[in-house]
Amino acid sequence: MKKQLTERTHVPTDTSRRCQFQRRDRTRCKAHAHSGLPFCFFHDPALHNQRAAARKAGGIARTRRVVLPAHAPVKSLRTASDIGELLGETINQVRRGELDLRVSNAIGYLSGILLNAIEKGSLEERLATLEAVLASGDRSNNNFGEHESFDFVQQNPEDPSSPQ
Ligand SMILES: [Zn+2]
Repeated sequence: MKKQLTERTHVPTDTSRRCQFQRRDRTRCKAHAHSGLPFCFFHDPALHNQRAAARKAGGIARTRRVVLPAHAPVKSLRTASDIGELLGETINQVRRGELDLRVSNAIGYLSGILLNAIEKGSLEERLATLEAVLASGDRSNNNFGEHESFDFVQQNPEDPSSPQ
């Protein structure tokens, strides 16, 4: 997680164009300075009013938070396809303006972590979970049941839709 964050943070290589602001711990702000100015947007004293306006706009946006209703069903997120389904749903909710962007961003971010964890999880662990689910007979909370069974399909060479 930490690695991802450092990779995404853009650190300009040309230090002369960096913001001159010095933090309390004496490290320099790593953001790009405005062209021709010594400070970035967040540290330029001349932009104080603009920053205040941006904060106010952010505050207004925060009060308009849109989330799923409290009675929305809890989603099973055990497999990569579960997460894919959630992401697909979330994308459509965002497209329809039904979901706050911060919520969808959090879902996207957490889905990435969860997907990583699932991929890294040991095969043994997943098998144990699968066995436990199958043994308990609870097939409502997973998507193994239907997909793990074998269907014997009669192949018909004249039907193009039949599997080859
Ligand atoms: Zn700065």
